[in-house]
Amino acid sequence: MALDAQLRRALAERIRYYNELGIYDFYRRSGPADEPSLADSAKDLFRSGDTPHLAGDGARAKLIQPEEREDMTRRAAVARRVRDENIFEVAAEPEYSVADPAKALKIIREDLGDCTRCVLHKQGRKQIVFGVGSPRAELMFIGEAPGADEDQQGEPFVGRAGQLLNNMIKAMGLQREDVYIANIIKCRPPGNRTPEREECETCSPFLMRQVAAIKPKVIVALGAVAAKTLLAINAPMAELRGHWYEFKPTGVRSDDPSWRGAKLAVTYHPAFLLRDPRQKKEAWKDLQMVMRELGLKPPARVAE
Ligand code: SF4
Repeated sequence: MALDAQLRRALAERIRYYNELGIYDFYRRSGPADEPSLADSAKDLFRSGDTPHLAGDGARAKLIQPEEREDMTRRAAVARRVRDENIFEVAAEPEYSVADPAKALKIIREDLGDCTRCVLHKQGRKQIVFGVGSPRAELMFIGEAPGADEDQQGEPFVGRAGQLLNNMIKAMGLQREDVYIANIIKCRPPGNRTPEREECETCSPFLMRQVAAIKPKVIVALGAVAAKTLLAINAPMAELRGHWYEFKPTGVRSDDPSWRGAKLAVTYHPAFLLRDPRQKKEAWKDLQMVMRELGLKPPARVAE
């Protein structure tokens, strides 16, 4: 049985909260006597006034409020599903014991396998587009979904939008190989449509694990879908851009005490910039903000 997507997010938030307190191991009690306490736990999740959220109080309110209207019967049923699916095992992924990020990414890729977890596996994808770049990258770019070229080549951002992203990276004084590039979802949606929320929620846990393995200093969300999914904020790009957000991948743990999460900035998707080149100046402002954070200087001559 599929777990309610909103509950999954609420649980992931709670697990992250415990992780931030230094609690990583969760145990499932067995036996009918535990049912009331499981139900109570689920009720707590929906109360959750103390649950921290990377996107701020306003965003948390948007996330939690609809759930507070759920009735007691449904909450108890959800609690039983939590027990059945053993959701707390999300805190023990196989790559956690691996220090080398390249090996950790390999494990995550193997775990993803020939994924059939969402409908996109049977809607014409040629291959899964996992991600590309340095496993030790300080800077990570996250877009929305693979397009036709990416589906064909198995690598994110290789078409015209990819060329523009390469130019943006060069303008920052870096090479494509210096950064890591991925998308929220790993299979091409038919007709390049916007990914459905369900698809994002099913696929993004693998992205979260990639982020936790790479431990970047800075993440740049490319476009509204990536920004809204990563930050759980439903806001227009004009509001999302120009700010730093504290970002810690949801539902995963990092054993590296020196990595407390990444700073996240939002800019336009390169495909949007191809359609509206006037916005390149705005995107450059966003990238300059990132460069200041990373101590980067642009090369003497920046290619257009
Ligand atoms: S989009 Fe992600 S979850 Fe869906 S089938 Fe592809 S890899 Fe699996």
